[in-house]
Amino acid sequence: MEELLKRLELNGMRAFYHPNREAAKDQILDMIPKTVTVGIGGSVTVREMGLLDALAGRGTQYFDHWKSGLSKEEIMEVKRNQVVSDYFLTSTNAVTRNGKLVNMDNTGNRVAAMIFGPRHVIVVAGKNKIVEDVPAAIQRIKEKVVQRNTSRRGDNTPCAQGSACQDCNSSDRLCRVTSIIEKKTKGVETFTVILVGESLGY
Ligand code: SF4
Repeated sequence: MEELLKRLELNGMRAFYHPNREAAKDQILDMIPKTVTVGIGGSVTVREMGLLDALAGRGTQYFDHWKSGLSKEEIMEVKRNQVVSDYFLTSTNAVTRNGKLVNMDNTGNRVAAMIFGPRHVIVVAGKNKIVEDVPAAIQRIKEKVVQRNTSRRGDNTPCAQGSACQDCNSSDRLCRVTSIIEKKTKGVETFTVILVGESLGY
């Protein structure tokens, strides 16, 4: 873990480790001022940690496209607001041992906001997201993350039915863009990665 934190720092990211989600949550809430706007990525981890309730409880405005009852147009509007928020809070699909963050997106709001828009990006990830290298990251995403997400959404894709990836042409295809953040981009002022010694999300 120490080596991974060092590699993330070498890649221009501030890196921290906490053994449990409670300590990680405290640090994240300390880092985000109350009066800013926060974009929330499509992340099970962020929600499992109770961060949305905590932000709401102290009156911080955040943009969550998973909020129930939103129309398709409203979801897109929330996603657009995320990329112009002051802060962007999300997880990542994978972290490689040499400190690269790998993600696949459908709409692209999450990978966009991690690269340009919000001045401050905070990524929180459980130990289950750590992989050897970029090929292992892509394998993890295709075999675990996309498959679970497409099944959860009831998508009409081969992976949602339990098959291996067939590079499908389904209109439900989830993996439409892959980003590899090798170093913090110059458009982001602070990029913080918080690793947690528990499994979080998938
Ligand atoms: S390309 Fe299609 S089959 Fe392959 S992982 Fe993505 S959604 Fe599933």
